[in-house]
Amino acid sequence: MLERRTVGLVPTMGALHAGHLSLARQAALECHEVFFSIYVNPTQFGVHEDFGSYPRTWDSDLAQLEGLNTELLSNPEKYKGYVTAVFAPTTRAMYPTLPPSSEINADGTFVTIKPLGTLLEGASRPVFFRGVATVCAKLFNIVRAERVYFGQKDIQQTAIIKRLITDLHMDAEVRIIPTEREPDGLAMSSRNVYLGERRRRVAVTLPTALRIAETQYLAAEATERARILGPALEHIAEAIAAQDGLPNAQRVNMELDYLSLADPESMEEVDVVDENRGAVLSAALKMLPLEDPQSGEDLSESGGASRAVRLIDNIILPPRAIVTMGMADDEEARIEKLVEVVEEKAP
Ligand code: AMP
Repeated sequence: MLERRTVGLVPTMGALHAGHLSLARQAALECHEVFFSIYVNPTQFGVHEDFGSYPRTWDSDLAQLEGLNTELLSNPEKYKGYVTAVFAPTTRAMYPTLPPSSEINADGTFVTIKPLGTLLEGASRPVFFRGVATVCAKLFNIVRAERVYFGQKDIQQTAIIKRLITDLHMDAEVRIIPTEREPDGLAMSSRNVYLGERRRRVAVTLPTALRIAETQYLAAEATERARILGPALEHIAEAIAAQDGLPNAQRVNMELDYLSLADPESMEEVDVVDENRGAVLSAALKMLPLEDPQSGEDLSESGGASRAVRLIDNIILPPRAIVTMGMADDEEARIEKLVEVVEEKAP
């Protein structure tokens, strides 16, 4: 009998955590074969970024994928597939003609997506989305998967991938998987290991600010930019001020890179949320190097305390019709709780 087997591709840069595994788990629910790629792509790192020191944890990655396969294979009624291939190419294989370059005016074969790739993350990281779109085009052409899996954590990246597939007439369904978070709400990220405990504690400022803004839309039914973002900006300003009052040895310095309220497809800023389209709330918060690292705080093998760590996160504000279309009970409870938090903060 002819059986049409489907392939799902999960592209990653390794240093795996539960977020990556949730992408593969979803792929296994929907596809017969899950191809998992691990490749730290040089062209998406700026010349002064952390390509050289990006965490590479091959043994732990494979152990996590093996553990995941044990789970998937022991549950055959639920999962259609499991991780059948780990693709970890060399840079010679991925860039067969010219060595890859991160220079803005580099020679080479690249996919650029403008203006989408120049906004938000692209404003701070000018070659980032060129590198992402280029490496994903390569991976999609190599693997020819029916579905490709990306995390909502990097929401602008998902918009770039959808645009890439549409505009280059590629043929894959993009599946976007919700962000996996630590118990306090911080989005999981391979770069969180750089934070160290002191900054890690304060990092929760970012998801909390986004939740506050979300509540303005969901519970207070605000649509204007100032009403949605205002209380979140206030929360961040207060968190920064609280740190300013501490001695150097305890203080965490942070800077807000952006807090955005944008259209979900173009990622252009909006003044008012179109309730038929919804919007994306996103932010980047830079955790600056520790001024006065105490003993045990300098995670020097990864340059921890002495490097700035840029955290990103986002929340999708759904179209209003979806919000009001009968919310799950736990979602309602979550929003009620958020309203309490916001009311507590009200002057
Ligand atoms: P990376 O290895 O960081 O390039 O991420 C590979 C994929 O995993 C991307 O599609 C990310 O969006 C996704 N991802 C990263 N962190 C998370 C997370 N906390 N939850 C869900 N997906 C994630």
